[in-house]
Amino acid sequence: MSNPAGNLYIVATPIGNLGDLSQRALEILQSVDLIAAEDTRHSQKLLSHFGIKTHCIANHEHNEREMTEKLLQRLRDGASIAVISDAGTPLISDPGYHLVNQAQAHNIRVIPVPGASALLAALAAAGLPTDRFSFEGFLPNKQAARRKVLQQLRSQTATLVFYESPHRILDSLRDMGEVFGREREAVLARELTKTFETIKRDSLENLARWVEQDKDQQRGEIVLVVAGAAPRDPDLIDAETEQTLNVLLNYLPVKQAAAAAAEISGVKKNKLYARAVEMKEGKV
Ligand code: SAM
Repeated sequence: MSNPAGNLYIVATPIGNLGDLSQRALEILQSVDLIAAEDTRHSQKLLSHFGIKTHCIANHEHNEREMTEKLLQRLRDGASIAVISDAGTPLISDPGYHLVNQAQAHNIRVIPVPGASALLAALAAAGLPTDRFSFEGFLPNKQAARRKVLQQLRSQTATLVFYESPHRILDSLRDMGEVFGREREAVLARELTKTFETIKRDSLENLARWVEQDKDQQRGEIVLVVAGAAPRDPDLIDAETEQTLNVLLNYLPVKQAAAAAAEISGVKKNKLYARAVEMKEGKV
């Protein structure tokens, strides 16, 4: 009879402060047959610090598909494997998705070992609503693509969470100010759990000014948490909706234009219908 399959553990490691490695994570990293790390050299520092001698192999973005086959074979042969990334929770803007997906498909037990994640640490300390949030990972590097993504998020009412690069933080804050409005509240959470931990909440405009003036704020690791858009008043036709309705009236009869504008804006259809009739009659 063949061995029962091993378990695949998804183990969170610290995002800066080594004290954040859980006791359970430590025990699992010590007892598994193999650790699949994003960068073995990077993780060796953590493993040495805790005296963990488990064999470690590389499973990163560029070899993940090919490694998945090998790791699945080891799991089927009965080996238990722990996946770790450079910092925080694997799979959260880090490799591991393909392996977990395939392990599930092959009936291998996947066991999460939760711990640090920059996303939740920032969100929990931001002082912005947490009942609904949308994790957006990293924004595109190129400005046009970045603004396009931000445009799509403009009306999102849930709190937004972004991972940011120190080289791009100023550009992103400025772009967000342009697209979301300079007064929108945001929190810059930098170097969490480390010596220079900084958590600052202000308007996008003030944060951009502060980051521009204090170059230290353009260093290290950053999470940006941005307040969601204020919920729309369904009775209020703002300038943008008025313009949308105006354009739609050039192509559609009044009823359809009002219905389409209602769908786009969230404003009540009957309000828009009444306004559309006024516009058609030439009332401004
Ligand atoms: N898997 C990790 C997690 O669970 O947080 C995230 C990996 S992602 C490749 C790395 C990004 O996470 C950084 O660029 C930064 O945006 C954020 N990050 C990681 N550690 C951080 C820290 N100590 N303080 C603030 N942001 C951090």
